[in-house]
Amino acid sequence: MPAIVKTKPAYGAELVEVDVPKPGPGEVLIKVLATSICGTDLHIYEWNEWAQSRIKTPQIMGHEVAGEVVEVGPGVDTLEVGDYISVETHIVCGKCYACRHNRYHVCQNTKIFGVDMDGVFAEYAIVPAQNAWKNPKGMPPEYATLQEPLGNAVDTVLAGPIAGMSTLITGAGPLGLLGIAVAKAAGAYPVIVSEPSEFRRKLAKKVGADYVVNPFEEDPVKFVMDVTDGAGVEVFLEFSGAPKALEQGLAATTPGGRVSLLGLFPRDVTFDMNNLVIFKALEVHGITGRHLWETWYTVSSLIQSGKLNLDPIITHKYKGFDDFEEAFELMRAGKTGKVVFFPHR
Ligand code: NAD
Ligand code: ZN
Repeated sequence: MPAIVKTKPAYGAELVEVDVPKPGPGEVLIKVLATSICGTDLHIYEWNEWAQSRIKTPQIMGHEVAGEVVEVGPGVDTLEVGDYISVETHIVCGKCYACRHNRYHVCQNTKIFGVDMDGVFAEYAIVPAQNAWKNPKGMPPEYATLQEPLGNAVDTVLAGPIAGMSTLITGAGPLGLLGIAVAKAAGAYPVIVSEPSEFRRKLAKKVGADYVVNPFEEDPVKFVMDVTDGAGVEVFLEFSGAPKALEQGLAATTPGGRVSLLGLFPRDVTFDMNNLVIFKALEVHGITGRHLWETWYTVSSLIQSGKLNLDPIITHKYKGFDDFEEAFELMRAGKTGKVVFFPHR
């Protein structure tokens, strides 16, 4: 079968023919119905410093997936052939201090599916049964594969109340766009999005942003103050990883407001902590991964509610993997929302 494989420690990846694998103990084999590209896959493709320190080649890439179980390995009693599943990427130990406090999302022994082992950019893939999430039969595969990143967005947006609340989202990359969809479904108003890329500001509008601002041309803090009659936003959701966006967002948040930080910063960040956080009594949440398994229930229900506007976010669909290089290059150039492959055409 064809698979997108990181064959060597260098830029790029290759489409190669590999054998369909056999599921070992605790594993299942799935037929991959849909699989989407994550920012992490892009880092592996580009072979950045993090990828160089973590990835062992050769390895099949990819971890966001919707698939059907076609073979069950020894000892698996939670899944059967025909089950329609997606996959939680954090494989946790269940034994450490964090896990024993039900904080599986911060397990200190976490292994990552598609990063520390073969992934799902193939026609068939091995999945650890303990990380499978069963989907309702009617859920379209292109939505089901988005559940993993949607979990990040849900944990960011719903870390506190948001219905009827003014909200600033900085960064409308794939994750910020999913954040906009969740915030709108949850009843946030107005949703203001700060994003320098025109293409992504347009997408943000399509997903449901009430206002968009280009932070490279206009002061987003002044923009927020104008929209909120000088109050600032109740909720600030950081999805860009840009130090400037963090500072602007904190400045644009109303005293006593809530801040959720998902974006990862490329370096140490400095800002006026006293005046921007402490004297404003902001409630600040760091967000990592998604809660196991509470967030998956929320994500699945939100999709089934029909209230999540996901279609404009899925900007590129590919049948098979033949054009995977085009897909990665478009994503690198910031010219995509989510990219989804349908391996079986
Ligand atoms: P992305 O790089 O595609 O999107 C970031 C967006 O921010 C881009 O559209 C960019 O134009 C925009 N941006 C740049 N400078 C800005 C500024 N000054 N103000 C506002 N917007 C600005 O990334 P993504 O895949 O959407 O992921 C978003 C962030 O979440 C990344 O930093 C990623 O590393 C991080 N992340 C965190 C977790 C976690 O568990 N905490 C998980 C996955 C991804
Ligand atoms: Zn653990």
